Amino acid sequence: MNQSLSRRNFLSAVTAVGVTAKANPSFVSDGKPAALGGEAVRKTPFPSWPVFDQREEQAVVATLRSGKWFRGNGQNVTRFETEYARLMGAQHCLATANGTSALLSALMALNIGPGDEVIVPPYTFIASINVILARHALPVFVDTDLETFQIDARKIEAAITERTRAIMPVHLGGAAADLDAILAVAQKHKLPVIEDACQSHLAEWRNRRVGTYGAAGCYSFQASKNLNSGEGGALLTNDAELHERCFTAHNNGRGQKSAPSGFQYQSSGLNLRLGEFQAALLLAQMTRLEDFARTREANAQYLTSMLREIPGLTPARMYEGCTRNAYHLYMFRYDARQFAGLTRDGFLNALKAEGIPAASGYGELNKEPFLQNALQSRAYQTAYGKAHLAHWVERNHTPANARLCSEAVWFTQNMLLASRTEMEQIAEAIRKIRKYSSDLVTK
Ligand SMILES: *Cc1c(COP(=O)(O)O)cnc(C)c1O
Repeated sequence: MNQSLSRRNFLSAVTAVGVTAKANPSFVSDGKPAALGGEAVRKTPFPSWPVFDQREEQAVVATLRSGKWFRGNGQNVTRFETEYARLMGAQHCLATANGTSALLSALMALNIGPGDEVIVPPYTFIASINVILARHALPVFVDTDLETFQIDARKIEAAITERTRAIMPVHLGGAAADLDAILAVAQKHKLPVIEDACQSHLAEWRNRRVGTYGAAGCYSFQASKNLNSGEGGALLTNDAELHERCFTAHNNGRGQKSAPSGFQYQSSGLNLRLGEFQAALLLAQMTRLEDFARTREANAQYLTSMLREIPGLTPARMYEGCTRNAYHLYMFRYDARQFAGLTRDGFLNALKAEGIPAASGYGELNKEPFLQNALQSRAYQTAYGKAHLAHWVERNHTPANARLCSEAVWFTQNMLLASRTEMEQIAEAIRKIRKYSSDLVTK
């Protein structure tokens, strides 16, 4: 499609839904970048995070005054579990201390431990990998799909061995991994799928929430996440028996029928419980989730319509099955060659000078020295043997991920809570930087 035509169509569509033409950007920028002494596009910060008012204040104070501060005597945690399960369309929800605990409970409930392999993407937050290491299981990395930033599902089958016990895709950035392909290969090899949906609150695959397709789906409510209680997490499942095992794992080995502070144990376990204060916050924060998600999605789509017309920028593509993106992160790839060789760091600094914070995102986690060290530990050497671990090093080949780690640029979700004008300012700043990129290179 002709690009200027598509832009015209887009603008008329925008006007049709009631935004006046005046609000649209000029699409020309003559001024110099702020990094070269010009005027910054923005002088005020983006919306701050978290957002709260009397709703949160009352909920937390009421919990304080009740004197019931843990799930054993309060009602907030169980109320949150019921409401989150309903919101997400899952049969069971287990609230946990954080997203890490949700993932860990799933691995414990599925009896994944030493000698086992878990398939995982390298482009993720480190907790996805740390939970596997905490069980002394072996993370097996499948390369990233450069276009979508998600695990390359086409490469999962080749990574399966007789040791594989689970596939743990991550729905990265608020979008969805290719669940059709992942579930097909999982079914074929009879492997459970643990969805790491820690960044994807309200995201959907074929109009159903992510985190409800696998054996379990795990969410995080850590402070940066789109649903925030400082720390917090949840596990969703439609399997009553798995839910019971996860509950037991997260409650020091005590099942739902034993009192939380009773002394009967069904298995080994840990204390990974969510507290009543966090649950009170979550119930209040949940009243904002849908509205915020709509704002983020509308702004992100608008931003994409502008950024994809700038040569050298490639916004992360979504799979056709991803019917809703939660936009925890707004991610794109940056091609320095289209910016006169201006490095990504140079680009990020120039953006920062314009009043637009951006990050380079994850490094190559599967090449981290700490990971190599862990595999050289006595526990791993005993559980897997030298030959298997040497072979792991050969298998740990992820060239697309290496490239992505060198090209990615992120904006955080709170920036998407701003107005359309601010999305236009982002695009304008980038056009300015590109126009003056050779000056920025020699600066
Ligand atoms: C945040 C996050 C986690 C861990 O959640 P915590 O609540 O911080 O423990 C796991 N996986 C991904 C992809 C995350 O973004």
